[in-house]
Amino acid sequence: MSQIPYKIYLSEEELPKAWYNLRADMKNKPAPLLNPETHQPMTAEELKVVFCDELVRQELDETTPYVEIPQEIRDFYKMYRPAPLIRAYCLEKKLGTPAKIYYKFEGNNTSGSHKLNSAIAQAYYAKQQGLKGVTTETGAGQWGTALSMACSYFDLDCKVFMVKCSYEQKPFRREVMRTYGASVTPSPSMDTEVGRRILEKHPGTSGSLGCAISEAVEVAGKTEGYRYVLGSVMNQVMLHQSVIGLETKTALDKYGVKADIVIGCAGGGSNLGGLIAPFMGEKLRGEADYRIIAVEPTSCPSFTRGVFAYDYCDTGMVCPLQKMYTLGSGFIPAPNHAGGLRYHGMSSTLSQLYDDGLMEAVSVSQTEVFEAAEYFARIEGILPAPESSHAIKVAIDEAKKCIETGEEKTIVFGLTGTGYFDMYAYEKFHNGVMENYSPTEEELAKGREGLPTV
Ligand SMILES: *Cc1c(COP(=O)(O)O)cnc(C)c1O
Repeated sequence: MSQIPYKIYLSEEELPKAWYNLRADMKNKPAPLLNPETHQPMTAEELKVVFCDELVRQELDETTPYVEIPQEIRDFYKMYRPAPLIRAYCLEKKLGTPAKIYYKFEGNNTSGSHKLNSAIAQAYYAKQQGLKGVTTETGAGQWGTALSMACSYFDLDCKVFMVKCSYEQKPFRREVMRTYGASVTPSPSMDTEVGRRILEKHPGTSGSLGCAISEAVEVAGKTEGYRYVLGSVMNQVMLHQSVIGLETKTALDKYGVKADIVIGCAGGGSNLGGLIAPFMGEKLRGEADYRIIAVEPTSCPSFTRGVFAYDYCDTGMVCPLQKMYTLGSGFIPAPNHAGGLRYHGMSSTLSQLYDDGLMEAVSVSQTEVFEAAEYFARIEGILPAPESSHAIKVAIDEAKKCIETGEEKTIVFGLTGTGYFDMYAYEKFHNGVMENYSPTEEELAKGREGLPTV
């Protein structure tokens, strides 16, 4: 076997030709989406009012294992993919661990994260359908940026509702979106009924993802030729993100390396779901075993402290109900939370897998995350996004355990993006004013009160 290089690059030919639909191999399928009013399973017809036709088909398809990636999407992927799989030799050495650490780096594009993998697919299907444009929400701004890039490539209009506190605190991301031709509105806004209702109730609110989603859905519904698109949580997004895991698996297989532990950060679950897809597929089919670990912030602990129940995906309660690990759609992480991953729920597919005991989840505090981020940046060079640094933290922890046990485990983690636009958060950390928070039992109980009875 040849020496494993620092960076394993695949050729363009090795770029996956099909996405992998993990649900096809699941015995316990995720529960169906329900209509928020009737509580009956959403039909394709109902979903098509909100989402693009082909994306609805992908959302509901739980039997087709491989979905061909259209050539135009593959051509776009070729501009920034295959993404390198990096052997963290320097980190291993510094830690003095016998573990072998690899990370898949998704930050090599202007949007700075994995989100472009799904944005380009969603924009493509919207264009195919002859739509004029799409609406969406964005929190920290990565999804909005990725979607803006994808829409400008296909000449589609893009209306982004950006959570107000990010709109104000992250002017650079906002301007990147506008550079790609998107319109960006701070949410809640006076432009929508939902927004006006929320502003009346909570005049000074800094907004939330759940609220921005409701606004974007409303505008898509009311504007001729528009649909709503989403950057995480949904099955269609996880399907597109499987390109991350497929490339990772191909790169490891090329050198005969078998992963023992696969780690990813979990917000809505799309990068994690994509990274683990082929590994989990083998596990489900009984071909191999892996430890799979989701990492989330202690301040927004959907997996580790949430409940597995049907819940609203948005504050305005207009989106389909999804059965998932959730903190309740009214849950908003403490204002001092700076590390992203602040969505109240989790992908229904990952929720089912977690409930079936096929994967683990841990939560980490934000100062631990930034310590790991800084440590990693100084050793491996890459300035990581705070979200990605949740995975770094746990990868380092696992590598340290190997020092004690002497085991030469192979650890693979997802480095989802770069942290250039997160310097306010890094600044807080450097100035020693970053605080850790974990919600009290009372706060969690309050979040659960808002769950629908299904
Ligand atoms: C959005 C984002 C995440 C979290 O979203 P998932 O859908 O859980 O993957 C993680 N890392 C980065 C860099 C992001 O932009």
